[in-house]
Amino acid sequence: MIPTRYHRATDVDDAVAAIASDPDARFLAGGTNLVDHMKLGIAAPSLLVDVTRLPLDTITPTDDGGVRVGATVRNSDLAADPVVRQDYPILARALLAGASPQLRNLATTAGNLLQRTRCVYFQDPSTPCNKREPGTGCSADGGFTRYHAVLGSSPACYATHPSDMAVALAALDAQVIVVGPDGEERIPAAHFHRLPGDAPEADTVLPHDRLIVAVELPPPVAGTAGTYRKVRDRASYAFALVSVAAEVVATPESITHARIAIGGVAHKPWRATLAERVLLRDGAGTPSVELFREAAEAEFVAAEPMQGNEFKVPLAVRTLTAVLRDLTGATS
Ligand SMILES: Cc1cc2nc3c(=O)[nH]c(=O)nc-3n(C[C@H](O)[C@H](O)[C@H](O)COP(=O)(O)OP(=O)(O)OC[C@H]3O[C@@H](n4cnc5c(N)ncnc54)[C@H](O)[C@@H]3O)c2cc1C
Repeated sequence: MIPTRYHRATDVDDAVAAIASDPDARFLAGGTNLVDHMKLGIAAPSLLVDVTRLPLDTITPTDDGGVRVGATVRNSDLAADPVVRQDYPILARALLAGASPQLRNLATTAGNLLQRTRCVYFQDPSTPCNKREPGTGCSADGGFTRYHAVLGSSPACYATHPSDMAVALAALDAQVIVVGPDGEERIPAAHFHRLPGDAPEADTVLPHDRLIVAVELPPPVAGTAGTYRKVRDRASYAFALVSVAAEVVATPESITHARIAIGGVAHKPWRATLAERVLLRDGAGTPSVELFREAAEAEFVAAEPMQGNEFKVPLAVRTLTAVLRDLTGATS
């Protein structure tokens, strides 16, 4: 039995003060990831700071025409919001592709972003894992690699980030709004998660004493078509092998706007800047399957698959190509 204290935060300042008072404290939201990890013996917080009663559960318009999503808005409520469904279909579809209805009813916006980047070995405390216990080694090296990274990994860690929602937020250029002892900061969603390097124990750039209070979505871009497509081993209740969040504005002559992020391929949601550049370069030509394949292949030139997950590279290239074809209606 590990003794854990419990504190229900009364307001944002109280939550930040409580977390800052103890390096082993953790915020508790829906608990669907943190409590799992406590049961598995992966997390042993000395203090749980419950943030579920904070007034952060609303979805409101912002002055610039975007949307502010409170940190404790449940994933199912966010997916069902009429404005999100209408203006940010990438996000609504990504949320509905995640976990199960029961989990989405509990899971929160902030908790989803901060669910641990993980793999089967991280989840199994009987195996060495640099992310769980720095310096013990990586069991995925030479192990079961079907779900592991093909981009941006390091010999210390090959785990992939599991959140579907976070892939959509990276593609949408969302901002994560956090409050710490010195006030409020904004972190671009695309830079919120990090690559493992030689410190895989850190999944994000967020310091310990920061509370996520909201996520802000920029105003929707006129004329965009967007979607989220997830390829997985089961039709539901399975993490992505590969997923694509993409939105484009296409004219018969060219692509004039493209934002793409890819899930299931790296330690973080992978913003596909190389593919975007191919689509948007001068003289790229009319939207075509050939152009989309060129863009997708450009993103994976630097891929370094492991033995056992080589299939992910052609799968990701084909999925991105197909998503762009469907969004633009290109037939050849
Ligand atoms: C069986 C199963 C299948 C799943 N499948 C998928 C899937 O296919 N796709 C997918 O995307 N997800 C999937 N998930 C993960 C699920 O989406 C997450 O567990 C959930 O989103 C976490 O949200 P939560 O509110 O329960 O977080 P919690 O477990 O409460 O917290 C998670 C982390 O966030 C921190 N935290 C919470 N709120 C804040 C805050 N306001 N500020 C700072 N830190 C905070 C906590 O301290 C903790 O470290 C699955 C989970 C399970 C158990």
